[in-house]
Formats: sequence, C-alpha cells, structure tokens
Amino acid sequence: MAIADDSQRTDEMVFMETPSERVWRIEIPTPFAVGSVNCYLIEGDPVTLIDTGPKTPDAITTLTDALSTRDLGVSDVDQVLVTHGHVDHIGLAAYIVRDRPEAAVWIHEEDALALVDYDEFTRDRAQAFVSVVSGSGVPSEIESQVSGETIMRYFRSFGESVPTTRTFKDGHVFETGIGELRALWTPGHSFGSTCYVSKSKQVLFSGDHVLGDISSNPSLSFGTSIGNGMLTYLSSLDKVSEWGSYIALPGHRELIRDLKSRIDELRAEYDDKLRTTQGLLSSDAVSPYEVSRAVFGDYEIDSLVMALAESRDLLDILVKRGHAKLSQEEGTLLATRA
Ligand SMILES: [Zn+2]
Repeated sequence: MAIADDSQRTDEMVFMETPSERVWRIEIPTPFAVGSVNCYLIEGDPVTLIDTGPKTPDAITTLTDALSTRDLGVSDVDQVLVTHGHVDHIGLAAYIVRDRPEAAVWIHEEDALALVDYDEFTRDRAQAFVSVVSGSGVPSEIESQVSGETIMRYFRSFGESVPTTRTFKDGHVFETGIGELRALWTPGHSFGSTCYVSKSKQVLFSGDHVLGDISSNPSLSFGTSIGNGMLTYLSSLDKVSEWGSYIALPGHRELIRDLKSRIDELRAEYDDKLRTTQGLLSSDAVSPYEVSRAVFGDYEIDSLVMALAESRDLLDILVKRGHAKLSQEEGTLLATRA
C-alpha cells in the first residue's frame, strides 16, 4: 500500500492504490478544545463518509469544499458510517443526507440515541454531567458555574437527529469503494464506539478509541450501562491489539503508523494514573475532585466533567482491586486506603 506525501494538504490523501480506490482524510474544524475532527471520504461505489464533523458553518464549508475537489457534493454520499455518537463526529450527518433519504447513516446500536433523538441524548448527557460534578467534593464556587441547562443548550446547536439512522452490531460488514469494512465494537470512549477494519487494505478506522498524541477519554458514558468505562475501555484496547500491525486512521490528528506501540503507551498512561491515585490514599479521606487535581493538574473548568469522571473510575478500579474504600459524607464521595 502506498502512502502519499500529504504534508502540504489539509484534505490529505491517506492512501491510494488505484485511481478508483481512494481514501481521503478531511480535517473538519470544530469549536471544541480537541481541535479539528477527521472525516474520511472513501471514493468509489458506494461513496462513503466515516464521521462528519459538527453542525457549524465552518464545518459545512470545509466538507463541501473538500468533496468538490473530488468532483463530489454531499448529495453524492451514499452512506455515512459513524465511529461513535459524539457531536464532533455526527453533527453534520443530517445535513449530508437531507436530500438523499435513501442514504443511510449507520451507528452502533448502543450509541443510536445520539442520532435517533439528538435532543433527548443531549438532555440525558447534560443531566449525567451535572450528577458527576455533584457529590465529587468540587468547591462550591466552581460547582455553581456548572449548569445542565447551559451544557444542553451549548451542545444542542451542534447536531440534529437523523431520520435515516440505521443501527448495527459488532461484526457488521459494510461494502465500500475499498472493499469490505467490518465493524469492530470497542466500547469505552462511548458505549457504542466502533472501529472499522479493512482486512484487504490493512487499515483500521479507529475513531476516538485510539488517537495518536492525545488520550481518549474512557469515562464519559457514566450513567449508562457501560459500568466502569475505564475498565471497559481497557478491554477494548486488548481487542484492537489483534490489529496492531495495521495503520490506524483516527478521529483526530494524524494517522498512526505503529498502532501496537500506541496501544502499549495508552495502557502505560492508565497504569500511571492508577498509581498516582493509589498514592493519594491514606486514612485521611480524599474526594474525586482532589484525585482529579492530583492526576490532571491545573485543568480548566471545561475539563472538569472529564477529569471527575475519570477520577471516579480510577477510585472504583482501586476499590475493585481491594486498595480503596469508599464512603459518603454529607453527600460527598470520599475514598480512604483499604
Ligand atoms: Zn472526537
């Protein structure tokens, strides 16, 4: 497989074997801290997009400009496969298929609500975000800045429901212009997170499950049936290591040429976080907020929910391993050494 020199392009060519078998990475801008999101165009029959970007004027312009360089428009897109139900990946799906009711948007069944009823999904997530903040020992002047209503209104503007949503389970096979893509369910970053594997091209579209230089938050699905998101995520990393020799095309940043090493690095990061958390435990109680400051440092308020959610998962893992005990004091979760 030839890798094109793509350093000069924003809509870079990821690889090309023959003129009819092409995969393009389109970097779609987002207003979120993570920066741009990768949308992949697979040319050929059927024309396939993997992920879409959020619903913003900038994202629409970038996507339509990139498609037009390939002599395509959004109405030429036959199917959209999304890697997970987060708005930076799904927000534009409704816009793309609006004029093509026969164009399906596919999502793993565990993330389906995000596309089937985006408003309900955002309301649920905003409530879950507020609940993870309360009872975590967050100073009141910080906690008072967290409003479920504000979170919901903010996220609502970047996505919308898709009437042509279709769901799949682990192992579903999609036909694309580069041959078969098999859905590999990798719950963690979201419960329905999915990688798409091309055996013939030896590539894996990894969504946010494996990213190159940032770690994927594994704890954002609290309040769903995911259980401990971090443990679920780590076992999904094991699943992907079977494809360690493949090139990974991630949901953000550059492609990953050494997937196996990246998986090892990610595992080591979680081990470090667990060690730091365990080191805080003594007979004096610590709150999830105190853990979050020790593990994630001087983060901004827009990272508060992420940091608290991960800290709660870290404590829960230490409880499961017999290293920590949890108690409640005036509604605040507290941990001591077991
Ligand atoms: Zn993302």
